[in-house]
Amino acid sequence: MSKRGLDGPADGEPAAKRADNHDANEAAAHGAAAASASAAAAAPKVPRIPQEPIDRSVPGPSLNCESFTYAAGGDVAAEKHFLCPISGQPLFDPVQCANGHYCCRSCLQMAARKCPLCRVSVAVPVDVGVGVKGVLAELTVECPDCGVEMRREQLQNHRNYVCQLPCVRACGTTVSRTGAAGHDSVCPLVPVKCDAAEFGCPWSAPRGQQAAHTLACGLRGVLPALRLVTQRVDAQMQQIQSLQQDNAAQAQRIDAQAREIQSLHRNDAAQTQRIDTQAQQTRLLLGADAAQTNRIRTLEAQMSERKEELAEQTRKRKALADRVEKLENKLAKHTGPLVWHTLGDEYCVDSSVTLGNGWRSDDTPCRFAKDKHGFVHLDGIIRGGKEDSDKVVLTLPLGFWPKRWQYLPADGGMDFGEVHIGPDGGVFVGVKSARRGWLSFAGITFSTE
Ligand SMILES: [Zn+2]
Ligand SMILES: [Zn+2]
Ligand SMILES: [Zn+2]
Ligand SMILES: [Zn+2]
Ligand SMILES: [Zn+2]
Repeated sequence: MSKRGLDGPADGEPAAKRADNHDANEAAAHGAAAASASAAAAAPKVPRIPQEPIDRSVPGPSLNCESFTYAAGGDVAAEKHFLCPISGQPLFDPVQCANGHYCCRSCLQMAARKCPLCRVSVAVPVDVGVGVKGVLAELTVECPDCGVEMRREQLQNHRNYVCQLPCVRACGTTVSRTGAAGHDSVCPLVPVKCDAAEFGCPWSAPRGQQAAHTLACGLRGVLPALRLVTQRVDAQMQQIQSLQQDNAAQAQRIDAQAREIQSLHRNDAAQTQRIDTQAQQTRLLLGADAAQTNRIRTLEAQMSERKEELAEQTRKRKALADRVEKLENKLAKHTGPLVWHTLGDEYCVDSSVTLGNGWRSDDTPCRFAKDKHGFVHLDGIIRGGKEDSDKVVLTLPLGFWPKRWQYLPADGGMDFGEVHIGPDGGVFVGVKSARRGWLSFAGITFSTE
């Protein structure tokens, strides 16, 4: 609030003109007493150009009560109430003590926060009222730099943007504080380099001498060509960079593909391994199969050998049986009486014929014979065996076999028992055939024809 008047926008009205009006009013009010001052102010005030370097920091140097003065033709009556009690200069950013004395804020700080007039302590400075600020803003002051008069509220804006200051390099031009930076780009005293500095010209001097050097510079003739070449080189560099970027992207893509290929290779290897394993298993199975097949073939060969052997033996046996039969028949024809073969006798036609199923010969030995008409005769008594029409008691030798089953009565002591004789010579004793434990073969006869 305290700087309201100072921070305000620039007033369109030229400060010098307004100051003239002010002076005119003053002259009328005060008459001859003020005539000299009025006469002095009647001539338009020419801004004075400061000779010494001025702080150009933007937005301008901070003001205090010592940095400006009330204008010569100002409202002296008002001004005397608004002087700093410490510096005697116009109040700047004033505060007030408990007794209503005014003092600049910064001056109060320097006075150890005690009112310089009544010595009362001012711990927390209190702003002056709005009315006081208004009066202060209206008072006419001089720019401390160029001396131009203006309403005080315009001073800060004037100093930032309007007030003309000499170029710090003393080129003879004046610039405002905010225009100083722009002036550097044209100031003839700013040191510059030759246009061809980048191509090797070492020349460097104030800008004012550049035009002359440019005419004399050895590189002047080739500068356009050099610029063209530089442009081309720049363009090529850009192209190279873009190609390098492309290359990097390509390399990345290639890497990714290589990784993919590697992973595919790995999969492939695994697949190949699995296939190998399966092939091995298949080979093993085939091998096992072949071995099995070999064994089967061997067994089949052995079996066919056995079959052949069996057939051979059967043939031999048949041939033997035929021969025995012929011999028997011959023998029967040539010997008139029966020739008995007794079981167990050394002259029996077949010494292997014995009694089975628990039967044994009684005192009358078991025997058999065949007459010249081809009839077989049995004789003898057997004892002690079991009656079973399925279990053979004895087997007659070849030549003594009936052509078909024979079921013949046999003396069992109380009743007749049954004797069954099969076409392969087997002799069986029927069930319930030997009540006294014996059975007689006497009188049993059958034909072999
Ligand atoms: Zn002060
Ligand atoms: Zn006081
Ligand atoms: Zn100024
Ligand atoms: Zn300059
Ligand atoms: Zn040059």
